[in-house]
Amino acid sequence: MDDILMMLPGPTNVAPRVLRAMSQTVVNHRGAKFGEIYTETTEMMSQMFKTENQSYLLTGSGTSAMEAAIANTVNPKEKIINATGGKFGDRLKDITTIHGINSVEIPVEWGDVLDPKILTETLDANEDTKAVTVIHNETSTGVHNPLKEIGKVMKNYDALLIVDTVSSLGGDYVDVDKYGIDVCFTGSQKCLAAPPGLAAITLNDEAWKATENVDSHTYYLNMPKYKAKGNSVPPQTPYTPGVNSIYGLLEALKMIEEEGLDNSIERHIKAAAASRKAAKALGLELFPKSEKIASNTVTALKMPEGITDSDLRNTIRDKYRVEIAGGQDHLKNHVFRIGHLGTISYKELAITYTALGMTLKDLGLDVDTGAGASAIAEFYSE
Ligand SMILES: *Cc1c(COP(=O)(O)O)cnc(C)c1O
Repeated sequence: MDDILMMLPGPTNVAPRVLRAMSQTVVNHRGAKFGEIYTETTEMMSQMFKTENQSYLLTGSGTSAMEAAIANTVNPKEKIINATGGKFGDRLKDITTIHGINSVEIPVEWGDVLDPKILTETLDANEDTKAVTVIHNETSTGVHNPLKEIGKVMKNYDALLIVDTVSSLGGDYVDVDKYGIDVCFTGSQKCLAAPPGLAAITLNDEAWKATENVDSHTYYLNMPKYKAKGNSVPPQTPYTPGVNSIYGLLEALKMIEEEGLDNSIERHIKAAAASRKAAKALGLELFPKSEKIASNTVTALKMPEGITDSDLRNTIRDKYRVEIAGGQDHLKNHVFRIGHLGTISYKELAITYTALGMTLKDLGLDVDTGAGASAIAEFYSE
């Protein structure tokens, strides 16, 4: 198991120093020592989000933060505009409806991104909208939405902007305060390269104000409680947190700080461009509508004719020890995905595209097996 290279869009490979940090002794989560660790971690998360506001840690996967963002800011029977366009856009819509909130969907075609003009039209037609949900990086289709432009549109409206940056924070440009994002959240197991199990969320003053008018926060994800406990002495969480997971997250954040956040983002952008070049060199086609909107953290590719998802992914994993992701929902068997988020660089990409070239040949395709790896080498030596 240890020799498998995980090229998934989360979880990603976790550095040994992060795993070591997690093996530190368990401390009382109501004590001063934990308070220090909690404060350091949440302050570093706010730096990642580029916000002056406080961040909070949830012991739950990214989806816990998706639910917290919606349930705490909008009441049942009120209205949210959900921009969809993929598995995770759909999930925010499902969370909206399960909380009895009226959902107005902007049904973005899978493989495409939200058009800010359509967002404007939808907001104009729905003046009672309380919030808009957007997935920054739609992991299921391999595209990233134009966050800055979406933020500009939202500045003309009272509705809150809720943004999922689970598969982009640390690997793509996110500037919560500058873009005018009211609620932003991420997960530990994607670009941050920490183990799974934690989410981080930040709310600005407008979002906190909205929470005061909401009575159905959910019990576990009650953000006002997280705020009150976060401000207490020593700082803490309302319920027992995954203390050792937080040790890991803190160490992973220190690694990003040492590299520099912008350097980390640039590294992801470079890896994505290299990945697309390599895929094309192997004769593969991108799933996103255009290269311009292609994700910086995951490459979604069309499944070559005559090859099944299980053939491709079982072969590359069992024979060549590289794990890649399949398509989700109706894209299963039509799309496969290579995640390049976290600590990855040319090394992992070279191995992945070598393995992919050999796999495609094993499965009967007429490919130049080394073309992908060669494209990676050329790209990085430019
Ligand atoms: C992975 C992911 C999530 C959350 O998934 P979890 O499995 O709950 O961590 C949410 N949004 C996006 C865009 C993701 O990629």
